[in-house]
Amino acid sequence: MKKIIVAGAGHGGIVAAYHLAKAGYDVTVYEKNQREELGHDWHDYMDMTAFDGSDIPRPDESLYRHGAHQAFRNPKGNIKIEVAYKDDARVMDRKVLYGYILSLADEAGVKFVFGAEITGALFDNRRILGIKLFNDGKTENIYGDLVIDAAGMYSPVRRSLPALCDIQRDIAQKDIFHVYRAYFRNSEPVNIEPSYVMDLFHMNRPGLDWTIFEEDYTDILLGKFGAAGELTEEEIKSALESYKKDYPFITDEIVRGGCVRDIPIGKMLPMIVANGYAAVGDSAAMTVPLNGSGINLSMNAGRILARTVIENGGKTDKGTLWKYQRSYFLNLAKDYVLVAKLKDFFTFVDGSLVDYFLEENILSAELLACGNGDINIPAKQIFYIISKAAPLLKLTPAIVNNFKSLVNLPSVLKNMPEEYDDEKVNAWVEAYKKI
Ligand SMILES: Cc1cc2nc3c(=O)[nH]c(=O)nc-3n(C[C@H](O)[C@H](O)[C@H](O)COP(=O)(O)OP(=O)(O)OC[C@H]3O[C@@H](n4cnc5c(N)ncnc54)[C@H](O)[C@@H]3O)c2cc1C
Repeated sequence: MKKIIVAGAGHGGIVAAYHLAKAGYDVTVYEKNQREELGHDWHDYMDMTAFDGSDIPRPDESLYRHGAHQAFRNPKGNIKIEVAYKDDARVMDRKVLYGYILSLADEAGVKFVFGAEITGALFDNRRILGIKLFNDGKTENIYGDLVIDAAGMYSPVRRSLPALCDIQRDIAQKDIFHVYRAYFRNSEPVNIEPSYVMDLFHMNRPGLDWTIFEEDYTDILLGKFGAAGELTEEEIKSALESYKKDYPFITDEIVRGGCVRDIPIGKMLPMIVANGYAAVGDSAAMTVPLNGSGINLSMNAGRILARTVIENGGKTDKGTLWKYQRSYFLNLAKDYVLVAKLKDFFTFVDGSLVDYFLEENILSAELLACGNGDINIPAKQIFYIISKAAPLLKLTPAIVNNFKSLVNLPSVLKNMPEEYDDEKVNAWVEAYKKI
């Protein structure tokens, strides 16, 4: 029986594990945390189609609730644009989501080793052979036919791969979203509509902040695009003070969260497979580049990966796994290449331009709704924003280079090799990297 190693209990890895175990594979997930520690200490916005797309039953309705009514506010704070309610948007507690997908994986026969710290990949000059880990005070080498890397954006497996795999080890600083999130207790019951307010370039910081007003607590997220550097203590303190001044019912008491995390917000990594290796989820940078949503995409990717392996009789060579990369890219990731460019564009502008966009309705309610969640932003809308901004921007070489490369996009979308061939795939990867 083929032995599958899932490195890290990322969402896509668990979905892949579930399907592979159901198909009779011997699957073990190695995770550094304990089972009850899995999942961030907050709720997430997600689309229930994540379950349909990843071919797992939707959870019982008691496990999630409807999403809140959302509005976007400009940096000056004088314009608030309400966006249409997205029908499928639901809010699910991350720990509840984990509880649900782990129980499905258990039933399917997936084995879990918790408290196992993976330190890197095992390989020879032909393939990835397994993982090295530290468990119960001992180092161990675990060998298998396939390593599914679901260990997140700083995956120690991906970062230790040999250069010959040509897999990007680190996520570029400009493609990291630095995020602080905490729930603060309200001093009195609160009922504000729209209850979910997204502040663009709040306090002129390139990024997004949100406040979600629940009856007894306020969920505050502060996000900064990595091109502008790390989110500093000072920025967190001043943004929180500003919200507490605007909404005096927000107390200093943190009821959940209260930490800084990073999310990858670039386009999918150029190469995500090797002989005996496939990355899924944040490890492969599978998110919506503007806002960092990644649950839906990583779960879908897990399903595509499992299906590819099963349909190819358990083969785990690069040629077979390339079919997974190709299918994920053409079905889901390709639409986000342009969104990643739009995110890059926003790192060149300042708050006054964002004010102008909202004042002139260039960033309309329809477009803002597109950027939310997993909905695709139409290419023509992106070019429209850029054309409106161009006369107001000093066109530095950095901006020109950022967009010049887009001329290659149609050919990259059209020419992704159907079958794995070293030369053709290398040429495709090089062209994709340049966008
Ligand atoms: C503040 C914040 C808010 C977010 N909100 C949303 C949202 O509303 N909607 C949405 O769709 N997405 C949201 N996301 C993004 C989402 O969390 C990810 O895109 C999604 O979880 C996919 O990531 P993953 O499962 O691949 O990786 P991760 O969630 O990073 O999981 C990786 C797993 O690997 C384990 N691991 C890491 N290193 C090791 C090691 N050395 N040894 C063993 N195990 C290891 C980790 O412990 C973890 O369990 C948010 C992220 C953050 C940080």
